[in-house]
Formats: sequence, C-alpha cells, structure tokens
Amino acid sequence: MKYWSISAARTIEELSSNPDYGLNKQQVSDLIAAHGPNEYQQSKPESLPSMVLRQFKDVANLILLLAAGLSLALAVREGHGYVEPIVILAVIAMNVILAVTQERGAERALEALRDLNSPTCLVLRDGARTEVETSAVVPGDVVLLKTGDLVPADARLIEATGLAVDESSLTGESEPAEKDADVLTEEDAPVGDRVNMVFSGCLVTAGNARAVVTATGMQTEMGRIASFLNDAQKIQTPLQRRLARVVHGVSAVAVLAAVALLATGLQQGEEFWAMMLAAVSLAVAAVPETLQLIVTLTLTRGVRNMAQRHALIRKLPAVETLGSTSVICSDKTGTLTQNRMSVRRTWVPGAPAVEVGERTEDPRALVLLRRLALASNATVEPDGEGGEKIVGDATETAIVRLLSASGETREALLAELPRAGEVPFSSARKMMTSVHALPDGRFLVLTKGAFDRLPFAAAGAEELAERQAAHDSFAHDALRVIALGSRVVDDLPSDGDLEALEHDLSFEGIVGLIDPPRPEAAEAIALARRAGVRTVMITGDHAATAGAIAQQLGLIRAGAPVVTGRQLAAMTDEELVENVRSYSVYARVSPEDKIRIVEAWQEQGEVVAMTGDGVNDAPALKAADVGVAMGRSGTEVAKAAADMVLTDDNFATIVSAVREGRNVFSNIKRTVYFLLACNLSEIAVMLGAQLMGWGTPLTPVMLLLINVLGDGIPGLNLANDVSDERIMSRRPIGRTESFFSGITRVIALQTTAFAAVGLLAFWLGTFAWLPGGEGPSLAAGQTMCFLVVAFTSVLHVFTVRTRGSVFRRTVRDNMPLVWSALGVIAAFSALVLVEPVGAVFGLAPIGPFSWACALALSVVPTLVAEAFKLWDNRHETWLYRRRLVHHENRGEE
Ligand code: ADP
Ligand code: MG
Repeated sequence: MKYWSISAARTIEELSSNPDYGLNKQQVSDLIAAHGPNEYQQSKPESLPSMVLRQFKDVANLILLLAAGLSLALAVREGHGYVEPIVILAVIAMNVILAVTQERGAERALEALRDLNSPTCLVLRDGARTEVETSAVVPGDVVLLKTGDLVPADARLIEATGLAVDESSLTGESEPAEKDADVLTEEDAPVGDRVNMVFSGCLVTAGNARAVVTATGMQTEMGRIASFLNDAQKIQTPLQRRLARVVHGVSAVAVLAAVALLATGLQQGEEFWAMMLAAVSLAVAAVPETLQLIVTLTLTRGVRNMAQRHALIRKLPAVETLGSTSVICSDKTGTLTQNRMSVRRTWVPGAPAVEVGERTEDPRALVLLRRLALASNATVEPDGEGGEKIVGDATETAIVRLLSASGETREALLAELPRAGEVPFSSARKMMTSVHALPDGRFLVLTKGAFDRLPFAAAGAEELAERQAAHDSFAHDALRVIALGSRVVDDLPSDGDLEALEHDLSFEGIVGLIDPPRPEAAEAIALARRAGVRTVMITGDHAATAGAIAQQLGLIRAGAPVVTGRQLAAMTDEELVENVRSYSVYARVSPEDKIRIVEAWQEQGEVVAMTGDGVNDAPALKAADVGVAMGRSGTEVAKAAADMVLTDDNFATIVSAVREGRNVFSNIKRTVYFLLACNLSEIAVMLGAQLMGWGTPLTPVMLLLINVLGDGIPGLNLANDVSDERIMSRRPIGRTESFFSGITRVIALQTTAFAAVGLLAFWLGTFAWLPGGEGPSLAAGQTMCFLVVAFTSVLHVFTVRTRGSVFRRTVRDNMPLVWSALGVIAAFSALVLVEPVGAVFGLAPIGPFSWACALALSVVPTLVAEAFKLWDNRHETWLYRRRLVHHENRGEE
C-alpha cells in the first residue's frame, strides 16, 4: 500500500487503528503474530561446517595437518605406530572445537549486548501513552515522536509540528528532511520525497509528531537494505590487527627455527622423515595458536564487565580506546551531579533572600513560584501506586514540587491563566517563554532562564547592582539560578513569532536550586587524576555556580579560571589549543562549543572521551575518540552517535570503564608475555639439544601436549583476570604502545631460564646416573624434560599475572585459573605415573630422585622472575613517584 499518496485518515482506517486511542491489546497480539517482531533480520548466522572449515585457514592448523600427514606416512612406511598421528589429529580436533565454541560464546555475548542497547519508543495503546521496546511495534501502532527520538518503524504522519528528520542513512541526503503531514505525494515518489512519511532508523532532529505505523521489520525501507548494515560487527579492532602482526612475526621465527632444526639434524646424520616431523612439530609448538582466540575472548569479557558496571559498548574498538583515554570531558548536570534538584532560596527585589525547605509560606516567594511554575512544563502525574510523581526536566520538577508541597497546583493556575503559546527551552538560548491569556483579553509573557541572558527592561544602577549581588551570592553557594521576567502585551505577533515578545521584561526575581554532586564523583575524579586522566567539566550553568561545584568536586582549586562561552567564542582555534591544558571548567557554553574543546585536546595529542545527551551533542560525540551518551536522559540521536552508553548517567562509570579498558590491554599483554616465553623457550630447548648433539628432547607429541594442555588452558583463564591493584596508578596506554613495551627484558630472561632448566633436565635424565631410577636413557631424559617444560609453563601463568610478587597477589580472584593449573599439573603427573598410558606418549617411569630434580628445576624460573621483579619494582616505584609529582605539579597550573 502506498500510504504516502492517501490521506492520514484513510491510512488509519486501512490499518484499523485510531489516532487518539491507538491499538488495543488483542489487535497488538494478533498483529505481532502476523508480522513478527519489528527487527531487521540478521544476516544468516555462519553454519557450523563453514565455521570449522574456516579454522583451517589458520596457519597453525595447516601446519598441524601437515604434521599429521607426515606422521601418518611414517607410521605406514616405517612402522612407527599410530599413536603420533592420532594424537596430532586429536589436537587438531581440540583446537578446532575450542576455537569454534569460544567464537560462538563471544558472538552470543555481543548479541546479548545488542539487546541491552535496544531502543524504546512511545506509542498509544488502549488510549494510554506507553513506552515499548522498538521491536514490539506493529503496523497500526500510533507512535509519538519528539526531537531526539529514533523513528521505530515506517509510519504515515497524522500530525507534525516543525518536524525534521535526518534520513541520511537512507537517502544520503545530509540535511534533515522537513516533514508535513498534510501533503499528498505521487504514488511513485522516491523515498526522499515522501514528506508525509517517516522511516525506521532515522533520527528526529527537530519538532514533534504523531504517526501511524505502516510497515515494520524487513518490510521497512531500512529493512530492505539491512543486509548492508550487518557487516559492521565483523570488523577487526586495531588491537586485533596489531596482534595479528605479532602472531605473524612469531610464526616466521618458528618456521626459521624449524628449518634450522632440520638442517642441523640432517647434518648430524638423523633420519630424514623423523627430522622432518620434528621440524614441523617445532613449528607447531612455536606458533602461538591460542593468542588470537584469547584476544577475542578478552575483548568480549571486557565488554561484558563494562556492561555489568553500567557502561554499554556500542562500538567494539571503544574498549581499547578507553584504555588510552587521557581526557574526559563531562557534562556537569546529571553526570557529575545527581540531577536531583530542589529549590533552596528565592529572592525578589526589595526584600531579603528567603531560605526555603520542603515548603514555603513566604507570600513573595509564592508569587514568584506560581509564575515560574506556569512557565514550566513539568507535570504532576499518578505514579501507578496511588501516589503522585512529577515528570519533566529536573529544574522544572524542583519548582513544581515546591509549589505542590506548599499547597498549590500548577494545573489550577493553568486553568486560570491558560497557555497561549510557548518558546521551548534551548541550551543555546538558555531560556524559555510561555504566554498566557489574561481574563481581560491581554496576554502575560513569562520568560524564565539564565539571569545573564534574559532581556530585562532598563533599570537604575542601584537596582541592577542589587540584583547582581543577589545572583552572585546564590551562584557562589553553588546554586543553579533561574531568573524570571514578565511583560503584559495586548496582542500576539501576527506571524506567530513569539520570540519577538522577549524584550523589556520586568524583573520578577530569582530562585536558587541545589543539585548536589554525586557522592562518588569526587573520588572518581581523584582516581582518574592519579591514573593520568584529566577531567574537564562542561556546563551551560553560570560560571560562578560551575566554579563552586567544581571546587566541591576537587576538580579545581579556588581561583582557577572558569572559561565562559563568551570567552571561548572570542578565542581563535589556535589560542584554544595553546591554552586548553589550563582550563578544567567551561561554563555557559552551548553544545556546539563542545566540538572545539574536543578538537583542541586532540590537537594536543590527547585521547578524549566526551559526554552528551542532546541532539546538538551528536557532532561532538562523533568527533571525540570515545563518545559517551547518557542512557537515561540521553536522546536516541546522542546514543546513535556514541561509542558507549552509560545506563546510570554517572561520571564514575566512565572512570571504571577506563579501568576495564586498561585491564583488557594488560590481560592481552600478559597473554603475549605468557605464550611467547613458553613458545620461545621450547624452540630454544629443541634447537639447543640438537646443537649439542644430545638428541631430541621432546617428541612432537609431547610438544603438542604441552602447548595445548599446558599453555592453552591456563592461558584461556588468564583472559578472565581482574585488574591488578596498580592499573589505575599508571599513565594511560599509549595509542600505539607495543605489547612488548616494558616486558621485552623479562620475556628474554624467562625464556632463558626456561630453556636452561629444560635442557638441564634433559641432560640429567639422558646422561646422569640418578639414584633410585632405572639408569640414564633417552626416554628418561625426554620424560624429565617434558615434566619441567610443562610445569614451568603452568607456574609461569602466575608470574605474568602481576608485576608484584606472586606470593602477595591473591589467586582467589581467579579460581578457575588455579583449578585449571592444578588440573593440568595433575594430568601431566598422571601421564608419567600411570605406566601404560605414559608409554603411549613415549614417557618412561622415573625414580623418586628424578621426580625431585624435575620439581626443583621447575620452580627455578619462578624464583628468577621473583628476584627480577623485586629489583625492577624498586626501580619502577621510584620512576612512578617521580612521574606523579610531575603530574600533580602540572595539575596546579
Ligand atoms: P547544563 O545542562 O549544563 O546544566 P543547561 O543548558 O541545562 O546547562 O542550563 C543552562 C542554564 O539555563 C541554567 O543555568 C539555567 O539558568 C537555565 N535553564 C536550565 N533549565 C531551564 C529550564 N527548564 N527553564 C528555564 N531555564 C533553564
Ligand atoms: Mg540541562
């Protein structure tokens, strides 16, 4: 049906709906059964076989397949037995199963998050305004749209005032399209010309409207092109790309090592096929197969942890960027403060200021309050539990609440003085006007807003000074000031331009509201500062109010500069960039100014997070490295532009997300440290023994066992680690900081220690006579080497978890890691102890003295690492203290 070519009334009739009542419950349930949920179908999920096949695009698995082939050939031709090919095939199977299940898990986690992020909208159902999830909208629903909303489905407009919709995602048109409910268009009008329609997924940038839904889900215009929209998720994050480079580098080293092993072996007269297999297995052992998997896992865990702490990630790369964030620009009202306002003080000329509590009886204050309430849009509504609640903007609810508590109602006042028009509040103008019809046919103009923005009539110097003094004393006490001006006019402007009435207002008085800082905000700011993250407060409030709150929050010291929107406008971009480090508070700014602040900080090389909630904030949110939208008070426009949404609107949540972002990076770094030291030391043991002419210390099967069981399983649990105590006392992670920064030395040290004990164990078992055993043999040497390399790897996982001593860091915060480590150690011991099983893998029983040697050697690398950390931490603490002092000094500028 081409609803854009027929009238709204006919459209409603066609859809059996009602413009004032909406649909009833029965209709809704019938329609949802008929049309399904209002969702774009995801591109078909990858099938299991194709997921499995994809795993063999991975170099590691390919090399493994090669190894399986070789060992099978050996088994058939030379009668080597079938254990080896079977083990290798089992390892391949395990690798693939692990990869597939983890990938699935990660996908499901992201899926769940997408659901959490799902938008809602306002519809009429059974005659009541009801908030429903966008996915529950059906054709025939009457939706109510306002500025900042996301259009939930394709809909025919019934009525619209000043409606403009950003349809760029659909039509490519960057200017918002102006809409009109009463225009009929040709049947074949293209999407961009259907001015009486709104389309699913587009954003309302101005005005409001009522519309009837004509199509949902895949039937919508956006649904038709939805297949294009699905690909976004598959993109690799910068971190994943960088890590892929690491894996490639290590793989190259592995291949070179394998070639070297083959060459030396052949030179020493070893058999070709056996050497070939050893070389291929070495390559397999050295390739960090699990690394990329662990990164994906760590990222999704990070996203999930953030969600639990009220930060929903909309774009995956933001997880990483948060770890590098060095400046957080935050709105004051509602983010740093509670947004629970209440009127504290009132002042009208000619009398002292009145402190008000829950209620007031002061007649002058009441006159002022009544008029402020008339000029407000907050309403008293039933709360569904027999009581009442006040709905609306926090500033206005405070006014209406005080009036109600004092025994009067806004509704009664409005009945006497009905509204004749309104100029809505805008953050740019910082005021609003309502016009009321007086009984004598004239009109009362009430303008409320920022004291310094209201256009008052000229007044004597003394009077002006008195007002200013009252305002300043309010603002210095951190009160948010609302001033009221009024005028009586005979007629309204014929062109309907009510803004033209805003001049020569007579001054009525001011009210001061408190909006207490959030209790956790000051602490979060201090935590961020220690972590090298600067907090910048941005507000539309007056400079004095902003400055007072900023001091309460510990953001600035008394006397620090507060930059006003006017000062900002007078600065050139260059001046702003040059001085941006000295400003922590911006007051009386408009949303449009935020983008300049973001860009100035970025120009200074900082990584900037910026909060916002309104339509006008969207450009700044996009420009910021991490755009942060408010989940509760934010518009859908802001959310759509953001990288992260705060479900609790709380500044402290940003700081904990930063912490989580750092944790993700540090977990990945630890995994790199862990796997690299293990893999490199295996190469060293294999090559070292070959060069010394000692024989092969580890068979391919043993290498695979160690890699998959010994490294893989604890490694996966490492991704689970919570952040260590000092993560927020370091500087932000550099945007291009290498995974190896600060750990190259310790990786080298650990690799050397592992290789040394591994070789020593092999030598002892093969050549030395140890009491209590069956005498030296290659099998005994391999068994001891196997135990030592496996045990050191498992112990190593605890070393990499902390920069401090392993003995001081509790393991209780990651019990799965402990269990998996113990399990792996038990499994390896059992392999050696249970003879028939061990024999299958080429492991021989060894005497108690050999066991003791193996165990003793296994803890040596841990002790070496402890000694190193002891030395390094002294050094590091000293460096860190110096940095901190430097940082504090800078903060004082
Ligand atoms: P912020 O959100 O940073 O506090 P706003 O743009 O909301 O900044 O407010 C800026 C100024 O506009 C306030 O200091 C106040 O004087 C005025 N103001 C805020 N809300 C209202 C409102 N609902 N009606 C009239 N004036 C308002
Ligand atoms: Mg505000």
